Amino acid sequence: MSDYLETLYDGYGQRFIVERLLHEVRTEHQHLVIFQNAVLGKVMALDGVIQTTEADEFIYHEMLTQVPLLAHPAPKRVLIIGGGDGGILREVAKHRGVEHITMVEIDGSVVEMCKEHFPGHSAGAFEDPRLNLVIDDGMNFVANTTERYDVIISDSTDPIGPAEVLFSENFYQACHRCLNDGGVMVAQNGTPFLQLDEVKTTASRMSGLFADWHFYLSAVPTYIGGVMTLAWGSKDVTLRRQGAETLAQRYSDTGIQTRYYTPELHAAAFALPRYVLEAIGKA
Ligand code: SAM
Repeated sequence: MSDYLETLYDGYGQRFIVERLLHEVRTEHQHLVIFQNAVLGKVMALDGVIQTTEADEFIYHEMLTQVPLLAHPAPKRVLIIGGGDGGILREVAKHRGVEHITMVEIDGSVVEMCKEHFPGHSAGAFEDPRLNLVIDDGMNFVANTTERYDVIISDSTDPIGPAEVLFSENFYQACHRCLNDGGVMVAQNGTPFLQLDEVKTTASRMSGLFADWHFYLSAVPTYIGGVMTLAWGSKDVTLRRQGAETLAQRYSDTGIQTRYYTPELHAAAFALPRYVLEAIGKA
């Protein structure tokens, strides 16, 4: 058996014992590896960075999806940028009130490999009749589409390589343009203990653009460095301030099942550590 060493950070990282290498390929856009690990199940990495594991994917996918979709009173049109493994799509598809889902993934190989090796991530959601799957650069899509959405979820790799553009001012501006009134966008934004500059940069790019911007937290074991910051930008300042009672009623009304998300956790997730508040100018 060999080791897999994550190379996101110089001098610090996580190591996996590779029980079985399942797939490795250099796609048109990135280096893709899928392997079996005794603790985390199947693991996928792109360009040396852990993207998802069978064991802990539910935490990240539920929090990046259920928080905006339950904060919004009646989400009908959802745009997913990235998300090639299908986990976000599965969580969005749980909402019967959602009428249309567009998913824009740059690398079709990721979708095909994850359908084969991570069927539990999408759980059949790629066959959902509400889905319009677009293989394209997310920046290109939001810059040119005439479609409008209630919720935009950016589930990208880190801001290196093809995903770098998904952390740009142009991207946030284009997403703002694509949101309906009352809409909200969320985006994975790294772990602030190790990637605080990413949070600062996103804050500076969102603060002049969205009526309400902030971050919320989730602790995903294989996104090392402690809690992860998920970026929030909304056209409606009330969306982030829903109380747990309102959220609990909506959660109950949708009838969706989750393993990590709770309405109480949702309401609490927007409470940020002081060092993060200071970094984004909200201390
Ligand atoms: N959950 C992971 C995380 O937080 O790091 C991300 C998972 S998902 C696999 C990330 C996806 O973003 C990949 O499938 C990758 O191909 C896609 N991606 C990267 N850059 C993109 C771009 N510019 N447009 C659309 N998709 C992109």
